[in-house]
Order: sequence, then structure tokens, then C-alpha cells
Amino acid sequence: MRSQGRPFLNCRMPINNISHHKFALHCFFKNKSRKVSSMLGLMMKTPLTVTSILRHASTYHGETEIVSRTVEGPMHRTSYAEVWKRSQKLANALKRFGLARGDRVATLAWNTWRHVELYYGVSGSGFVCHTINPRLFKEQIAYIIKHAADKILFADLTFLPILESLAPQLKKLKAVVIMTDADHMPKSAVLPKLLCYEELIDEENDEFKWPDLDENLACSLCYTSGTTGEPKGALYSHRSSVLHAMGIAVPDVFNLTSASVVCPIVPMFHVNAWGIPYVAPMVGAKLVLPGPKLDGASLHQLMSDEGVTFTAGVPTVWLALLDWLDVEKKTILTLKRVAIGGSAAPLVMLQRFAARGITVLHAWGMTETSPIAIAGSLLGRHEKLSESEKLALRSKQGRPLFGVEFLVVNDDGVPIKNDGVAFGALYVRGPWVAASYFKSKDKSAFARKGWFHTGDVVNVDADGFFKIVDRTKDVIKSGGEWISSIELENIAQAHPAIKEAAVVSKPHEKWDERPVLVAILKPNATFTKNEMVAHYKGKIANWSIPDDVIIVEQLPHTATGKLLKTEIRKMVIGKI
Ligand code: AMP
Repeated sequence: MRSQGRPFLNCRMPINNISHHKFALHCFFKNKSRKVSSMLGLMMKTPLTVTSILRHASTYHGETEIVSRTVEGPMHRTSYAEVWKRSQKLANALKRFGLARGDRVATLAWNTWRHVELYYGVSGSGFVCHTINPRLFKEQIAYIIKHAADKILFADLTFLPILESLAPQLKKLKAVVIMTDADHMPKSAVLPKLLCYEELIDEENDEFKWPDLDENLACSLCYTSGTTGEPKGALYSHRSSVLHAMGIAVPDVFNLTSASVVCPIVPMFHVNAWGIPYVAPMVGAKLVLPGPKLDGASLHQLMSDEGVTFTAGVPTVWLALLDWLDVEKKTILTLKRVAIGGSAAPLVMLQRFAARGITVLHAWGMTETSPIAIAGSLLGRHEKLSESEKLALRSKQGRPLFGVEFLVVNDDGVPIKNDGVAFGALYVRGPWVAASYFKSKDKSAFARKGWFHTGDVVNVDADGFFKIVDRTKDVIKSGGEWISSIELENIAQAHPAIKEAAVVSKPHEKWDERPVLVAILKPNATFTKNEMVAHYKGKIANWSIPDDVIIVEQLPHTATGKLLKTEIRKMVIGKI
């Protein structure tokens, strides 16, 4: 007999066809007797929970590997079946703490298999997995722990100094668990009651009766990096997380299958690593996790050794990897596709990957949008374009994913023309877009009913490709005209002398604001103001060429790898 193949996610076998048929008839007559004016569908209301993702992976991709570079040092190999069992051990261990449904369990951790176990063990138990970004300032971490009212904190060894510095704030927690084994447990005079993850779950049963959860219950919590004001929490539901994972799996987005080898460089402590810990088990892809080592040499070794085909991360990580590959004259032979988002990927970055046979998928998203909402796959009709035309198109952020809707309006609130020139404020809505912030009175971003105001300015071309012009607060307003700092940065980035570039405004008496380029140069390179002007000439209108260039050793970044424009503006003002 021929095999019928594998079941889809959420379709649990065996299906009792007879009882389903009876149920359908029952509903039909019940509806008829009530004289309902509309006919309800007769499909099962199986809740979309993240637990179903790992159950599916364990059942149908049980032997597929999860490979991690450990915080302790060596590589670690496990499988979906094993992680499913260990998530259940963890869930049993969590029961001992007497948490209530919806309580927050925090993590301060790298991308490793233990963090995956926490994603599923915590959310599947009906608690909320609150991932904390360790790159935030200590005060922000303290604020977030308090605001979320975390009950337990799981942390990697690396973050012991942060934990110790936060000792007074951790007093209210029921436990602080170090994600390591007994041999590596640290001794801390400041935090004498630390628990050990492996000891915590060791004796537990590897079968857990997962509670039946409503798909709309909260599943995980992530705070924005909050460059202005306090960080704000996006509280994802089981339903939103599953739908987002389904939305990003498809060919025009991440294009993942059970044959893919997926390596999220984007951290699991920021917007759930763009959904990769959900979508990889959903499709049965091998998962390769970089742990704490994100330098070029480590990434090259990890991806080459494990045959990674798809990876995802912010431009700063790729800049470091590409520079390392150039110097070492190496490439990653198996790597086919790199998703880049979080900040604009400059064209030159797409060209550098293309030269190695690697396609860049530019993607746009926000903490509030789970995050992926736009992705830059080309349309069928773009096949006939030249390679450079294709790259130029790919350097736009791309087209909306199915499920997510956008509205772009000008200053008068009127929708802009999709001509690739007119620009406006970007609003978004959809099943994986935040409807409000967690425990926050700040409703300003939700003022337009049913929409979330992104704070980004975009243009849209006739093919529906969105291009992020700027953040509203970073756009440079010069003599009544708008100058895109992102566009000026991308052009600067293509100059051979420049390693990294930022463009910010400086106040100007006549024009209100003028652009200034702040750049880090490549080793032994020089770059003068005249060279800058010559480089920009012909590429943009003369009046938008920066007034000046300031060379610096370092550029400040936010906790999520974006240029920290507030600080760069201060640097510029200090130097003019
Ligand atoms: P966060 O919530 O920290 O992930 O930041 C979201 C913001 O990052 C967006 O509102 C954009 O301003 C920016 N962003 C994300 N992806 C891109 C992209 N591909 N190009 C340009 N900006 C981006």
C-alpha cells in the first residue's frame, strides 16, 4: 500500500470520521431548529497552541537534530524527540513552584536547546515565557523584571554578573535557575540560593499532561528596546505565534522545509528569534544554535560544519561575518539564503552575499509585529530583470505577508500613491500585530482605531514593494524637504573606505536641519569631505549631500543592534 505521507500540524491522527460525521449532522439540525440566518462551518476548533508545534516535531521529525554551541564550550547535539521529553520534565519541575496560569517566567539566555525547552515547557504549561534582552542597560532589565512581575528567572552562566548586580531586584522571585549542569554551577556569595537547571529537571517524569489552553492565551512576552521612554511589552498569544510561524514558513518568506538547516543568529531574547524556534520544528528543519559566539570565525565554523542552508540576523552581524570571510578568503558553501532585518540592509551587503552565491531576503518587522510582516522575495515577472536590477529591488524591504495589512498615509491622513516616490506614515494590522502594550497606559500608537502606528516612513511601488525611508524621528528635515538618513547611509556604506556609516541631523539656522555623516573607516583607509561629496554626487540631489563627515572609532548601537541615533546626534553636536 502506498503511504499517504505525513499529517499536517494540528491534525492529530487518527481522526474519527464517523463521530465527525455525526457531529456535523447534529450541528446542522441544531442550527436548522434555531433558524440561524448564517451557516456555521463544521470544522473542528482545534486551538492553535505552540505546544502542538513541538508535539508535531517530536512525532514526525523526532530524530531531526538541534545542534547548539554551548555556553560551557563544547558542541551539544540533541533531537526534537529529546527536547520534547525534556520540555515535559521542565513543565513537571515548574509545577513545584505553585505558579498560576499566565504567570511570567523569565529567561536571560542565548540561543541554545535549553532555551528552546523553556520556550515550550513554560508556554505549554500555561505560563508566559518572558525573554529578557541581556544587552539592555541594567536599569532597564530591573524595570522589565518588575514590570512583568516575573516569578522565576532562568539565566545562562554568562549572565551571572548581571544577576549579581540585580540581586536586590531578584529578591521577590521564587527562584533563579542557572541553565547549566552540576559540574558548571557557579558559587555566588551574593546569590547563594541559585538553582541548577539540569538538577531541577533531572528527576522529573518526561511525560506531562499539558493543560488544554485557549489559543488566545498569552504565550510569550518581549519588551521593545525603548530608546525613548521605558521599554514596552508585546504580549504574544499562542494563536499569534502559530499563525506567524505559518506565515513565515512559506516559499516567498523564509522558504523552509524539512530539508532546511536553519541557524537563527537573531537572538531568542529578541522577538522570539523572528519565530524561528517555532517555524523550524513546525516544518521539521534541523536547528543550529550559535550560543554566545557570534563572531565571524565562530559563525563560519558552525554554519560550515552543520551544513546551514538558511540563517537570519541584523546587518551588524553580517557585516562582521562578511569582513571575516573576505580577510580569510572563505565562504559558507551550503548557505543559500540569509534573512536580514532589524535595520536596513545596504545594497552593498546584498552584493557581497550575491558574490558568494547567497540570496538575501530583506525583511521588515517590529517587536509589535511578532516580528515579520514584510519580506523581499521577487515576483515571477521580475525574473527577466538583470542581476543588478534584481538586487536593487531586493534591497527594498519587500511585500506584505498574507495576513498582515498596511495603510500608508501622508501628513493629511490621505493614503499615498503607490508610485515608489510618495511617502507616508506606516500603519499595520493583522493577527500577529499587537493590539496594545502589556500593562501600559500609553495608547498613542493605537490611536487610529484598529491599526498600529509603526513610527516608520515608507514608500510603496506599483508592484507593492515597501521601502523604509526612515524612522519618523530620524528623518532629516532640511529646508522643508525630507532627507532619508537610511538612503545616505546605504550610499556611504558602498564606499570602499567605509566600514560602517550613520547619518544624523545637526541643527541649522537657515535649513532647520542638515545631514552629517559619521563613519568608521576600514583599517588604514582615509576619507575626506571632498571624497564624500564626490561619492554622493550623481547618486542623490546635491542638496541632500551631507554637510560634513566625522570619522569615529566606534558607533553606538541599541540592544537590538540598531544605530543609536540619539547618541550619535549628541556626538555630532559635541564635535561641531
Ligand atoms: P524592533 O521593534 O526593535 O525590532 O524595531 C523595529 C524597527 O526596526 C522598525 O520600526 C524599523 O524602524 C526598523 N526595521 C526593522 N526591519 C527593518 C528593515 N529591514 N529595514 C529598515 N528598518 C527596519
